[in-house]
Amino acid sequence: MALGYLCPKCNETQPTKGLCESCERARWRTDGALRRAKHDPRDAVYRHSDWGRVRLAILKRDRFNCHYAYDDICLGKGKATQAAHILPHNGLDDPLALAEHNLVAACAPCNRREQDIRRRSHDVDL
Ligand SMILES: [Zn+2]
Ligand SMILES: [Zn+2]
Repeated sequence: MALGYLCPKCNETQPTKGLCESCERARWRTDGALRRAKHDPRDAVYRHSDWGRVRLAILKRDRFNCHYAYDDICLGKGKATQAAHILPHNGLDDPLALAEHNLVAACAPCNRREQDIRRRSHDVDL
């Protein structure tokens, strides 16, 4: 075995001390993702003072009926508690963020599934 150091993460032998090249790259990717998530301008929409009012207006308009209504997980008619965006928005500066025509009522399990599906197919957060 050639001289080298062990990567503390994957235990691969490598020429320099500390994380090996691939673990170092993976760490940077994770850090980047966390940084982006923390400063996501879209989060501000859900903290905005208007969001609660808009959300309630959507729920009332849709009579608390879930828009997605996935057979196996939907909480059922009248059980929606969330407002979900139809088209993705880019934060408070985006008129789509608080536009009632871009929002539908959804129950929590359906909304979560819908976001998962979209994230997987478009690689975006909604
Ligand atoms: Zn490693
Ligand atoms: Zn539902």
